[in-house]
Amino acid sequence: MDLSLIIPCYNEQDSLPAFLEAVTATYDATGLEYELVFIDDGCTDGTNGILTRFARERGARHVRVVTFSRNFGKESGILAGLEHARGDCIGIIDADLQQRPETLLEMYRILCEHPEYDSVAACQFDRKQGPVRKLFSSAFYGTFNSVSSTQLIPEASDFRVFRRKVAVAILSLPEYYRFSKGIFAWIGFKTYPFPYTPDKRAAGTSKWSFRQLWNYGKEGMLSFSTLPLRISTWIGAISSVIALVYLVIVIYEWAALHNSFAGYPTIVCLILLFGGLILLTLGILGEYLGRVYVQGKNRPIYIASEVITVDDGKETDEG
Ligand code: UDP
Ligand code: MG
Repeated sequence: MDLSLIIPCYNEQDSLPAFLEAVTATYDATGLEYELVFIDDGCTDGTNGILTRFARERGARHVRVVTFSRNFGKESGILAGLEHARGDCIGIIDADLQQRPETLLEMYRILCEHPEYDSVAACQFDRKQGPVRKLFSSAFYGTFNSVSSTQLIPEASDFRVFRRKVAVAILSLPEYYRFSKGIFAWIGFKTYPFPYTPDKRAAGTSKWSFRQLWNYGKEGMLSFSTLPLRISTWIGAISSVIALVYLVIVIYEWAALHNSFAGYPTIVCLILLFGGLILLTLGILGEYLGRVYVQGKNRPIYIASEVITVDDGKETDEG
């Protein structure tokens, strides 16, 4: 098998017909031995019906449909796809036609022509974003890259093609919180940046709200840096020094100048300040502790209720 395409789908019934059309037209013409690995990420619309019909009736030669028992998120979908992909090279593409199948083919060709690269990542160099998103996005990448030893490429996405060894490396990371941008950066490998501009969605709406993006960013930061844990050490050290200096001033004023400070407001301010800081650092500790707890439970990252595989018209099912 030359190439596996992983396609995570969440309620994509409106985009899928056009996507299936485009992907089969593009890849059938190449003579490549390829497979399509669809992840039904707990879809509640007609997506699953479309996918199973496609696999059974007129599908490409090799199709797999992994159906999740509920919505586990795109990152879990990518993981399931990697576990079920059989190709020598593996690509990840969205089902909404924002990422064109032809672009992925071009990226695959680059990978074939350049044995020195192990991965080709589509990079969006001229990202069109509103000013607020742009500000948050550059603040996020700036902070991430300065607090983490893993360096993210802001323009790169999970629209990629890579060799099997890259997939094996990704699968060797057992973490529950899967921040794929960080994982791709962390595993290393020589990556070819391929410039591209995404199209408009074929149909439906993006599943990302601002809050989800915020949480996604937080997840990434906490998964790839332990620096926030050390904030309390620094705050503690700096405030101790300030407190000592302040004490010296108070003693000097009292002994040499016979002034006594009005203590009440100072005490209230300090209690509020330090109460806040202690709670803040406890909260940061809690964020990490919660993740250790979840990871410690060792739950699976997704649960598949059904996997169907169709190879040349022959179907195998795992219930
Ligand atoms: N997706 C998924 N699970 C989710 C949300 C999204 O598998 O919980 C899929 C979705 O069907 C699409 C891809 O991930 O194929 C990208 O999603 P979306 O278009 O909403 O994100 P955007 O393109 O805006 O980043
Ligand atoms: Mg999209």
